[in-house]
Amino acid sequence: MRILVVEDELGVAQFVKQGLCEAGHAVDVVRDGLDGLSYAQAVNYDVIILDIMLPKMNGLDMLREIRDQRNKTPVLLLTARDGVDDRVQGLDSGADDYLVKPFAFPELLARVRALLRRPPMQTNTLLQSADLELDTASREVRRAGQIIELSPREFSLLELLLRHPNQVLTRTQIIEHVWNFNFYSDTKVVDVYIGYLRRKIDDGFGSTLIHTIRGVGYRLSAEKNNA
Ligand code: CA
Repeated sequence: MRILVVEDELGVAQFVKQGLCEAGHAVDVVRDGLDGLSYAQAVNYDVIILDIMLPKMNGLDMLREIRDQRNKTPVLLLTARDGVDDRVQGLDSGADDYLVKPFAFPELLARVRALLRRPPMQTNTLLQSADLELDTASREVRRAGQIIELSPREFSLLELLLRHPNQVLTRTQIIEHVWNFNFYSDTKVVDVYIGYLRRKIDDGFGSTLIHTIRGVGYRLSAEKNNA
């Protein structure tokens, strides 16, 4: 898994990086909050390990900033022993867990494993893939910040795809979830609606999100289709 460590104390940073690398993770280390922010924006990390006392921008401000940008990467805060307020503020600002310094490395590793086991954070009504967002409460859909009007059926289809990112859904599965009953024995209706959806959410945008898996079905993914 790809992990970002934001820690200005060289000794701690090196010790954490080495341990995580030995556990098989790919680790980037940065030394201040501003670099942390730009790395977190540039790379889709699986976990961020974030110190609070940092130069340039402190960890809590960095955390609020990435959560404001709807970055849902699990964050493990590193806090001082007497930093009760920091821990409370940190958890309220969207941290998933914290660890008090000094800590034993096996505990850090266990907390990282626990964070990696969690399903993606679903604290709100927003489903996302890359720059595509669907709000299940307001029923708004946006791509690259631009509002996209969908019919109710197109909306349901997109919601289904977004709830199963990177997973191939067969035409039959899609029919069962979007059309509710087997009225349409002809699964071609799925291809027709996928076509409508593509024209609205993919055409004219830089990258393709809906991928056809020949002979199987469809997959929504921000990654390039290797099929
Ligand atoms: Ca520090």
